[in-house]
Amino acid sequence: MRRVSILGATGSIGQNTIDLIARAPNAYDVVALTGAGNIEQLAKDARRLKADVAVTAHDHLLEDLRTALEGSGVEAAAGTPAIAEAAARPADWVMSAIVGAAGLAPGLAALQQGSTLALANKESLVCAGQLMLSTAKTHSARLLPVDSEHSAVFQALVGEDMAAVERIIITASGGAFRDWPIEDLANATLDQASSHPNWDMGQRITIDSASMFNKAMELIETREFFGVEPKQIEVLVHPESMIHAMVGFRDGALMAHVGPPDMRHAIGYALHWPTRCDLPVARLDLAEIGQLSFRAPCETRWPALRLAREVMQAGGLAGAVFNAAKETALDGFIAGQIGFNDMAAIVEDVLTQMSAPRGHIDATMSLDNVAKVDHLARQEATRAIHKRAG
Ligand code: NDP
Ligand code: MG
Repeated sequence: MRRVSILGATGSIGQNTIDLIARAPNAYDVVALTGAGNIEQLAKDARRLKADVAVTAHDHLLEDLRTALEGSGVEAAAGTPAIAEAAARPADWVMSAIVGAAGLAPGLAALQQGSTLALANKESLVCAGQLMLSTAKTHSARLLPVDSEHSAVFQALVGEDMAAVERIIITASGGAFRDWPIEDLANATLDQASSHPNWDMGQRITIDSASMFNKAMELIETREFFGVEPKQIEVLVHPESMIHAMVGFRDGALMAHVGPPDMRHAIGYALHWPTRCDLPVARLDLAEIGQLSFRAPCETRWPALRLAREVMQAGGLAGAVFNAAKETALDGFIAGQIGFNDMAAIVEDVLTQMSAPRGHIDATMSLDNVAKVDHLARQEATRAIHKRAG
């Protein structure tokens, strides 16, 4: 039996992972499930999958979790350190699906005990890509991509030599506002930004799709994961979300990964890697689909893409600043304090503030330094939000 843990088990990726694991209960020994606010779901799945331990990120919910697990034999724990401890329990395969920078420390803890880490939490690579990769290397742990574009690139690279790769193209649906007049974006509401044309995902990543901050993060994630130069990575708007990524080789060939917009494909690929197993995803009927369309991304509509290129250029801890400012600006938008366009403007302000002169971005990459710049960037972003909110 394979020992598996799911960090962020109550979220959209976590639930899709559980869907796959629950279909083959005899194949898996579930070690840890973690969540935050959704105690009912966490306890239900921990009971059903007979997990060793269930952990909520919120200390004040420990009693609720204990009560919900009473008589089940599942251990209950709470708090951020308890999540990292659960991630460090010996397991063969760990799903990293906590949302945000909170996923970094537990992901590192799993790598340190040599687990294969299936990485949905793109923030880990954006904030601390070199640290993630070096930790994996030191502990002979394997990182497998779960973000659909990166899983697609990974699959297109099987058997290929990286030296033959000319470019990597990641696609973007364009999100909720792809076809809106640019001048209307300033007044986009939370509800409008929270609905995705093709994918069913958590609210934060759905809004990040509308602003293209998600794709901006994925540009950085691509650079870190595959070690290519920023100029080798392209974003292509592809409204149907059928082709997830393409790899272009030096002989001019393009290998495209085509599949339905269902995260269980990428999760299942990482779960069964290096083999392929049956997955409960729809089979595409391309004759019925008829046409696939593509267009170049407009950086006026989506300034996040330009900012990601600046972050890649800056290197160091710029990714951690970018992510923290983005997360804080997103909180501000969700709370109704700022408008849709203010998110990119705030991230740009914070990046400018925290660039070279004060040296934050140039500090060595360690978990402590990432936490430090994350904290400072959140403070700057909060200040910027208050200024804009008047
Ligand atoms: P969700 O918001 O649906 O779920 C997030 C999970 O993290 C939940 O289990 C939540 O607990 C938990 N959580 C929230 N805050 C904390 C915290 N501070 N500490 C510990 N746990 C916390 O997110 P998604 O599943 O959509 O996304 C997860 C990750 O995967 C993100 O990094 C996202 O970018 C990435 N991703 C997601 C895709 C998707 O299709 N959804 C596609 C590709 C990548 P609770 O719900 O109990 O509060
Ligand atoms: Mg993606």
